[in-house]
Amino acid sequence: MSTLAPASRPGRLSVGDAEALYTLPLFELAGAAHAARDAATDPAVVTYLIDRNINYSNVCNVGCAFCGFYRTRRQDDSYTLSFEAISEKVRELEAVGGTRILMQGGVNPYIAFEWYLDLMRHLREHHPSIRIEAFSPEEIKGMAKLTGMTTLEVLRELRAAGLDGLPGGGGEMLVDDVRHARHVSPARIGTDDWLRVMAEAQSLGLYTTATMVIGFGETPAQRVQSLLRLRSAQDRALAEHGNGFSAFISWTLQTKGVRIEGRAPGAGAFEYVQNVAAARLILDNVVNHQASWPTMGYKVAQTALFAGCNDFGSTMLEENVVSQAGARNRATPERELVRQIVDAGFEPRQRDSLYRVVRVPDVAAMLAPEAAVDAAVDAAVEGGSARGAAAAAGAASS
Ligand code: SF4
Repeated sequence: MSTLAPASRPGRLSVGDAEALYTLPLFELAGAAHAARDAATDPAVVTYLIDRNINYSNVCNVGCAFCGFYRTRRQDDSYTLSFEAISEKVRELEAVGGTRILMQGGVNPYIAFEWYLDLMRHLREHHPSIRIEAFSPEEIKGMAKLTGMTTLEVLRELRAAGLDGLPGGGGEMLVDDVRHARHVSPARIGTDDWLRVMAEAQSLGLYTTATMVIGFGETPAQRVQSLLRLRSAQDRALAEHGNGFSAFISWTLQTKGVRIEGRAPGAGAFEYVQNVAAARLILDNVVNHQASWPTMGYKVAQTALFAGCNDFGSTMLEENVVSQAGARNRATPERELVRQIVDAGFEPRQRDSLYRVVRVPDVAAMLAPEAAVDAAVDAAVEGGSARGAAAAAGAASS
């Protein structure tokens, strides 16, 4: 099945229809979204990716109030990784069968553009099988400002040096009144520019994803507005060059310990599932919708698999941005992702970043040791021996 939907469909939702979704009972909305997911993707399968996040530098001059990751250059814990340090992280990913790195940093005015090009060439040369998805539209805009080039020229050069795609970072809420609000990020890249950079990347054949964050205090109508901007952009991209957003991913604002704490309401599990389901129905031209376990936890992410999502995201070895704003769930080994998908009642498939299945995991072998431990502990406990339980667990896991 194609990973991208046709550019338009009969019966697509109007603005009024879309806003009405947010008033439906949750189970009714989730059921409709699940049916739409079943029609768009294999109903039995949930996919996942083995990847690694690499945050190459935490120096940034944008100053988003929801970000606990960025530093000024003068701060003691600011950093920019060396090529060798980045390579070491990629080697660790290769060792566990990973296929992609997702590389983002701050908008760092102290890094020369040549550094980015050299990094792409270095990774291409030393890690030819790993897909490189790097630099959100905000970073691309920063490079353009630094060099005096257009964002399209920046993207062309990065692509020629080895870049495969752009992460969807910075999508958040594609409504300037929300994203540029004083309590959010007045200096953030604007909606039009974010969409333009993504369209330019798509025109060059680069892989892109669309993201959304809820919880800034936006209204349901503004959530709909943001989703409709994405839907229109996807229509245009598919019509013009057949390459649009490969997936949609949403999560909730993480506020703990960052400046926006207490100034934005955030969003809970109900609103998350509601938004995930509405997005599946509104974005009828984006095939793949991803659940977010890092921000929502496994159980809510599993629930999202019954509200329109067909993908469980990725292992995210080393993630520093949302985790430094309070997200409690860090890297997950493949085995745990597989277990969560199986527990939810689906067949897991490892995919690449283009949502092509690259491997069918051997679920029985992957989960067997754990089952053996559980069975051994149960048997020993039933026999009344705590010491026996401990011994049995040790034996079963060795
Ligand atoms: S979210 Fe990105 S652009 Fe905003 S301050 Fe953090 S690193 Fe900078």
